Amino acid sequence: MAYERQNIQRMAGYVPGEQPADADVIKLNTNENPYQPAEPVLQAMRGVEAEALRRYPPPTAMPFREAAAELHGVHPENILATNGGDELLRLLITTFVEPGESIGVTEPSYSLYPVLAAVQDAPVVRVALHDDWSMPDDLAEQMNAAGVKLTLVVNPHAPSGTLADVATLRALATQLDGVLVIDEAYVDFVDPDLGYDAVGLVREMANVVILRSLSKGYSLAGLRFGYGIGSAGLIEPMLTKTKDSYNTDIVSQRVATAAIRHRDLAIRNCEAVRRERASMTEALAKLGLSCPPSQSNFVLASVPDDCAGGAKALHEALKQQGIFVRYFDQDRLRDKLRITIGTPRQNHALLEALQAQVKPVPQPQSNPPQNDR
Ligand SMILES: *Cc1c(COP(=O)(O)O)cnc(C)c1O
Repeated sequence: MAYERQNIQRMAGYVPGEQPADADVIKLNTNENPYQPAEPVLQAMRGVEAEALRRYPPPTAMPFREAAAELHGVHPENILATNGGDELLRLLITTFVEPGESIGVTEPSYSLYPVLAAVQDAPVVRVALHDDWSMPDDLAEQMNAAGVKLTLVVNPHAPSGTLADVATLRALATQLDGVLVIDEAYVDFVDPDLGYDAVGLVREMANVVILRSLSKGYSLAGLRFGYGIGSAGLIEPMLTKTKDSYNTDIVSQRVATAAIRHRDLAIRNCEAVRRERASMTEALAKLGLSCPPSQSNFVLASVPDDCAGGAKALHEALKQQGIFVRYFDQDRLRDKLRITIGTPRQNHALLEALQAQVKPVPQPQSNPPQNDR
């Protein structure tokens, strides 16, 4: 007999992207940053002394919260440090949604959201995005009508990479009855010329929490560190009641604090990713694989059915050659591949492999000129 709760018996777990043991593969499937963390960040890790390991860490990661507050122009009471952005998602759901109350998501988006909702036994209200992956104007209306307590929006959007502007998010937050979570896991890759900064919404509104992650922009996916930025009223119950007593360890606190103090170094790597993103998008388009404009560290390439047998077959063929990209077997994504932007060398290898797989579009037969006039 099973001992777990019925909703746990019924649910399926999150399926992470493959992490092949072979270090030689070209891994463009889980949106890791292809560049190393900055040297001062590595020094912070090496500098963790035995005494720091013997003792418990600062329970709310105050040194990190102070550094993050300074970076964003908010107060430490607006910051919650978590074991990856994923822990923040779990805390938001367990703190703000009663079992049986609804969570709202746009579709498609991050596949962890419904998994965490299922753990809380909270039904999921799914609203389809437009064909260009933008949010419908009546999104808040639909969520409110369905009694949604917490709405999760990922911006830049995953898996398309498209960006909604701050005005759209402000309108959404204003109209929603419940909490709005803006998942900004990929925000470090947004072109700074766009002037995108949603943190102002946290100062203006009581119902907004922004998720940040050090996994992508700061090249620290292995560290497991993320944080929330929100009104003190939203942060406080998670900080003092629902998070684990010591949810982030001393090594990750030290490394994460160094990482955001040296944000300028991470930003240089993000710039390199942006440059590669532009050339990758162009090169894919030339091969007949079009991508919506991405402000993230991945692109979502559409694979025509007659091209290399379609997206699924192409995904397998690339894998056979040691090149991993992500295929999602779900509505609206079955004809697409999500490709993480790698180093120039990795991207080149992918494009070479694609060139060999993707048959050039057949040119119309040029018939010999006929004298029919
Ligand atoms: C990566 C990611 C996160 C957070 O990841 P962590 O590694 O737990 O910080 C959150 N949302 C989306 C959409 C992501 O891709």
